[in-house]
Amino acid sequence: MVMGEYDFWIFDLDGTLVDAEWEYTRMLFDEMGARLGRQFSDEEARIIWFGVGGQRNNTLRSWDINPADFWPVFHEIEDPRVRANATILHDDARRLLDEINAPCGIVTHCQGFLCDPVLHHLDLADRFRTVVCCSDELGWKPDPAPVERAIRQMDASGRGVFVGDSPGDIGAAWNAGLDAIHVERLGPDMRGRCVRGDHRVERLDQLLIGGAAADDWLLEQRPATEQHNNWHRWWHPLTLSGVSFLSDQSAYHAPTWRTVCRLISGTFGSCRS
Ligand SMILES: [Mg+2]
Repeated sequence: MVMGEYDFWIFDLDGTLVDAEWEYTRMLFDEMGARLGRQFSDEEARIIWFGVGGQRNNTLRSWDINPADFWPVFHEIEDPRVRANATILHDDARRLLDEINAPCGIVTHCQGFLCDPVLHHLDLADRFRTVVCCSDELGWKPDPAPVERAIRQMDASGRGVFVGDSPGDIGAAWNAGLDAIHVERLGPDMRGRCVRGDHRVERLDQLLIGGAAADDWLLEQRPATEQHNNWHRWWHPLTLSGVSFLSDQSAYHAPTWRTVCRLISGTFGSCRS
């Protein structure tokens, strides 16, 4: 049994269902360094690759790198065949996908020329009813437009949920009127903040009820006072990045009252990870 028994599921791709081996990421940034005449440390490579610390373009600008110069080179370096061979499907993601009977889709910032070979390589091409790749024309998460397109293409209705690893995923879900599940594979220390959706898990198979019960599901059953009694654990990330946290989750569109309430609840909730 899957938590929530949603009528449809939409997933982010990178960092949520799949990840590339570190050697591939390191190779990419070594090549980027050679092309731009600037070395990228392991920490900097992880910040951009995983999108930790906020919007990637804002991070690049803070390093005096023009995103308009960075991304064309980055995409030129990426070889779809090499990327596909270096990408793995997380075991916990496979277990969850095996259990979901409802329609599933993907909304990703990954571009089609990379996304399609990856899905074929992992034998996932037929698993999803739709795959929507974000763009300047369509919008980027947390803009709800890509999620809304996925819902239309899936011909889905009822209670839906979006599963992702970034604040933008949570914002896109809420802006599109869906529940949001945050999978935190990196930990809040590396991410530099706590991200709280309607549920938070460290592994996607924690969403399976009856086997490994969802840790976050258990949290939802606790009294509110217990959920909020370790406020000191979110003080640090809230102080450092609370403003960008709010911006990441609600940018592009005026948040609905539902979103505002969830943001306030999430911001002032505890970080248990
Ligand atoms: Mg992601």
